[in-house]
Amino acid sequence: MDLGISGRTALVCAASKGLGRACAEALAAEGVNLVLTARSVEPLELSAADIRRKFSVAVAVAPGDITTELGRMAALAACPAPDILINNAGGPPVGDWRTFDREHWLAAADSNMVSAIMLMRAVIDGMAERRFGRIINITSAMVKQPHSGLSLSVAARIGLTGFSKAIAAQYVAANVTINNLLPEQFETDRLRSNIQKLTAKSGRTLDEEVAAATASSPAKRMGRVEEFGAVCAFYCSAHAGYLTGQNVMLDGGRYPAVF
Ligand code: NAP
Repeated sequence: MDLGISGRTALVCAASKGLGRACAEALAAEGVNLVLTARSVEPLELSAADIRRKFSVAVAVAPGDITTELGRMAALAACPAPDILINNAGGPPVGDWRTFDREHWLAAADSNMVSAIMLMRAVIDGMAERRFGRIINITSAMVKQPHSGLSLSVAARIGLTGFSKAIAAQYVAANVTINNLLPEQFETDRLRSNIQKLTAKSGRTLDEEVAAATASSPAKRMGRVEEFGAVCAFYCSAHAGYLTGQNVMLDGGRYPAVF
């Protein structure tokens, strides 16, 4: 299926590895030119070179911390008028919510809510004028199925989810959509490091923890990042203009409810 976005430009945040990179690759496979961000310059440049080589699209980089004003300015300077915006950043720390102080909550809000809102504000009216825009927020399955150990993530991402829904209807007539992808248990460095932390508490080995995590999933496996990227690319496609304000669970069937 031709997704109808060849020649478009995407700003993909937090994209040197993991889910962000998978989205970048899936878009590049559709002929989308990219601007990628991440904090560490070398892995970012290596990823960009790799994607360029594989897909023959233009790939620029904008190194910086996307949760800061400076990082967002660098991203927008490199990509002032994207057709596609993938909002992503690292997740906040996990732990007992009672151990987090005001600074932790504000930092989580900045990383996983405010920074995405600021980027949307910068680009969305231009998208509407050009009559094409696709915005994807990478959030978390925890938005629909919260867990107390991920309280910082849940609280911040719920805010972004509510905000996105509030403005989605305002832009869909201009062919600009906003959707959230909610991952759980995709094989990435972030997931591996979270599972590693569990071993300290449980006394189990990393392999045992991974086995326990996959055994508890209806899919009996973890998600592959390519699967995540493919869904992202479809939501960014020319065919998805009637699809907005949605929260798409990508969790191998773990979420137990109908809605
Ligand atoms: P990952 O494999 O650790 O990759 C994170 C990527 O984001 C890297 O390229 C990293 O590069 C970049 N990054 C992190 N913080 C950044 C910042 N402040 N500014 C710019 N770039 C930044 O993580 P992932 O698993 O793909 O997770 C992506 C998001 O999905 C996170 O918010 C995570 O909490 C959420 N999530 C993931 C899962 C899952 O199953 N994997 C489940 C639920 C939610 P640098 O370190 O060089 O900046």
